Amino acid sequence: MAPAPLGLPGLLLWPGALGAMTNDWKTRTRLVHEGSRRSQYGEMAEAIFLTQGFVYPDAEAAEARFLKAGEDEFIYARYGNPTTRMFEDRIAALEGTEDAFATASGMAAVNGALVSMLRAGDRVVSSRALFGSCLYILEEVLQRFGVTVTFVDGADLDQWRAAVTPGTTAVFFEAMSNPTLELVDIRAVSEIAHAAGALVICDNVFATPIFSRAVDQGADVVVYSATKHIDGQGRALGGVICGTRDFIRKIAEPYMKHTGGAMSPFTAWIMLNGMATLDLRCRAMADSAARIAQTLEGHEKVARVIYPGLASHPQHELAMAQMGSGGTMVAFEVKGGKEAAFRFMNALEIALISNNLGDAKSIATHPATTTHQRLPQPQKDALGITPGLIRYSAGLEDAGDLIADLMQALSVA
Ligand SMILES: *Cc1c(COP(=O)(O)O)cnc(C)c1O
Repeated sequence: MAPAPLGLPGLLLWPGALGAMTNDWKTRTRLVHEGSRRSQYGEMAEAIFLTQGFVYPDAEAAEARFLKAGEDEFIYARYGNPTTRMFEDRIAALEGTEDAFATASGMAAVNGALVSMLRAGDRVVSSRALFGSCLYILEEVLQRFGVTVTFVDGADLDQWRAAVTPGTTAVFFEAMSNPTLELVDIRAVSEIAHAAGALVICDNVFATPIFSRAVDQGADVVVYSATKHIDGQGRALGGVICGTRDFIRKIAEPYMKHTGGAMSPFTAWIMLNGMATLDLRCRAMADSAARIAQTLEGHEKVARVIYPGLASHPQHELAMAQMGSGGTMVAFEVKGGKEAAFRFMNALEIALISNNLGDAKSIATHPATTTHQRLPQPQKDALGITPGLIRYSAGLEDAGDLIADLMQALSVA
């Protein structure tokens, strides 16, 4: 099909641009082509429009643009930019949502999704096992502005049923929790929420956009830290809010564009490149994670292995139904507490000690002393964050090498 000129002079649209939901491309094809826009030069790679703003042929055009910007018309990069829009269209197509808004970080996405729709007097129900900064928004920020937040054990549907009363405005959860890889049954919780008239906001980072089809299961809004698997190479911070066109353009965008949380075009370009290989990377990492989990299970120095792909995981069946995979993360407890865990980590030769995840490089994290250090001990105990717990993000290295590395480090622990 010949490219059709659209909107700005010179900006051409290939099939696929604005094609979200109108073609029947499979995930891998969408990840490479969806949302692509080409200039009059017909460049192969997605162009980086490193421009803060846009010019208009005449004053009338400027007036018209401010009155109503069309699909491929831009005003200011804090509102939108062609490179950023390519990323938004590509991730919306991947998620199966009508639209998306790209943000400066994952936390800008979580904050934007929640704060843009809530007002004083509203009620939110959230799972308790959350990324620390998500917990800060729910516990500190929202409550300070008069929003009531009730926390439940995300895996316990009875607690959701009891807490999500009619009039609840929104429900928030991480589909797979950090660091103990507990799942929330998205379909069941969405049914409970919708029956009460609440909007379902799902932080899907750990489950990845490849394995967890949160919208298909009933979630209304899905947020990601693109910093993790979407970039996948430790280069940039980013995030995205995915949802209906009405939610994105009438609720999330006005809040985000006026409060300055938009993604930079350069970051969008990095994320677009990350997406081309996202499916391949997630599947390769999950294959390695599964092999690692199987090898660790029953190891004499390992007290327990938490991996949703193992039959021993209490939610194994739910994980298979919801994700069709155990995911790319493995958590396990080294016998001997913090000292043994530190000896193990310090002996690793391939996996790096860090707190990122979903990266090409395998990463080991000690949640009790880093990502979850601030939590009081009773809360750590309740979440299963023991002194010996290691969170391992399987990377793209050879799985045999990773296993050999883990085995030699365990022998030192
Ligand atoms: C990392 C992470 C975030 C925050 O993302 P940033 O890009 O670091 O702002 C939010 N939720 C979860 C589950 C995460 O893992």
